Amino acid sequence: MDISVAHGKLGTAAADFTSKPRRLLIDNEWVDAQSGKRFAVLDPATGQQITEVAEADAADVDLAVAAARRAFEDGAWARMKPTERAKLLWRLSDLMEAHADELAELESLDNGKPVTVARAADVPFAVETFRYMAGWTTKVHGKAINISMPGDYHSYILREPVGVVGQIIPWNFPLLMAAWKLAPALATGCTVVLKPAEQTPLTALRLGELILQAGFPKGAVNILPGFGETAGAAIANHPDVDKVAFTGSTEVGKLIARAATGNLKKVTLELGGKSPVIVFPDADMERVIPGAASAIFFNQGQTCCAGSRLFAHRSVFDRVVEGVAEAASRLKVGPGLDPSTEIGPLVSDEQFGRVRGYIDSGRAEGARVATGGGTLGGAGYFVQPTVLIDVKPEMKVVREEIFGPVLVAERYDDDDLDRIAKEANDTMYGLAGSVWTRDLGTAHKMARRIRAGTVWINCHNVFDVSQPFGGYKQSGWGRELGEEVLHNYLETKAVTAAL
Ligand code: ADP
Repeated sequence: MDISVAHGKLGTAAADFTSKPRRLLIDNEWVDAQSGKRFAVLDPATGQQITEVAEADAADVDLAVAAARRAFEDGAWARMKPTERAKLLWRLSDLMEAHADELAELESLDNGKPVTVARAADVPFAVETFRYMAGWTTKVHGKAINISMPGDYHSYILREPVGVVGQIIPWNFPLLMAAWKLAPALATGCTVVLKPAEQTPLTALRLGELILQAGFPKGAVNILPGFGETAGAAIANHPDVDKVAFTGSTEVGKLIARAATGNLKKVTLELGGKSPVIVFPDADMERVIPGAASAIFFNQGQTCCAGSRLFAHRSVFDRVVEGVAEAASRLKVGPGLDPSTEIGPLVSDEQFGRVRGYIDSGRAEGARVATGGGTLGGAGYFVQPTVLIDVKPEMKVVREEIFGPVLVAERYDDDDLDRIAKEANDTMYGLAGSVWTRDLGTAHKMARRIRAGTVWINCHNVFDVSQPFGGYKQSGWGRELGEEVLHNYLETKAVTAAL
């Protein structure tokens, strides 16, 4: 498939957007990088160039941080009332909705994901995130305290925005991750320098245009595509950034935490996972099989909370594995822009190589391929949905996050919940897990025993704007979404007046 064919499936608006190079958004202006450099954005279904974008590095980060600082200290943003911020966020969500098809097409083109999924999931969830956070703008407040010190005092607590926030996001849900990051920061009155992933800058840049159209004041949002080691590191190291919020790999999360020590900026991290899908013998197999398949194969397995370890009781193991393998073999793999596609290409050549490397390593360590294991051939980064069996707890494919459509299936022999939970928890990660059973007691007992930020019962990958999301252990610090995320962007101040 050549690029003209891929572009042929784009609507006019998305084709227009990709028809010229895109620039950085700094202080409400679209500008070239100081260095003049640009990088190519590639279509993962073909490996061909879609367009070019300006490549930010440390010099551009300096300008963007200065703009965000001005907006935070004394611009229109700093003076804006909560109701006005709410209206802006709501206006932005309306604009996103009006451009939903275009955003979905750009997302599919850039990331590879099925356009049907981008339309049904990524874009509406991003819209709802802005709407939900618009509601919080008017509900952030402190409280008065009657203190017990001798004397006459008036004491109260203020909740204030933390300041200039650097946000670094990944490529798996580019628009949605931008929304999860921007919406709460803006709702609380912070200003932002956002760096999309180098693999997928397009929807964040289109969002930047909608942000200008909505009427956000100068410097409130700055968007800087660029690479991790340059632009990303410059944000994490910057002495005038008050807080950094990161979503990505655990490995890079550790680098960010280290970089943040220079000025002890606040840090929140949403990192990797290796989430178990725990199947009990009494579970409803009609739900388990499609549920476990979509837990891993949704978004080509490029989901931090993917149910990547199937963990089934010996009495049902064969049945579940056969069912999931059969479901996997029926999934239609193809270019994201083809409306009949169920599994798109992986995001990049690098990711394509990584995932194939894991499948090879599984085979080399003695795992067997129950289904998949191959690629489609041709130019795109397509990997067949894969199920590995005969795996052992110490294998790399069981211990490490693969971030691709590869499920490892483990059998457990035990009937004791504590021991089952211990095995399920045998991972450095703690992002999510799901429990599949008809027994209410088993379900809720397991929910307490799983050491993870999210537990699903008889479902997986069910999200809502109101629910906190984030990790225990090496899956991160802090929570996204819900009321909980506001804490990431607020400082607490105690004020005491002697009367
Ligand atoms: P992946 O390995 O899956 O691509 P990463 O964790 O490397 O995920 O990337 C997530 C985000 O972190 C991207 O925006 C990337 O550019 C950025 N990033 C990568 N390395 C660094 C770094 N050293 N400092 C800051 N940001 C980084």
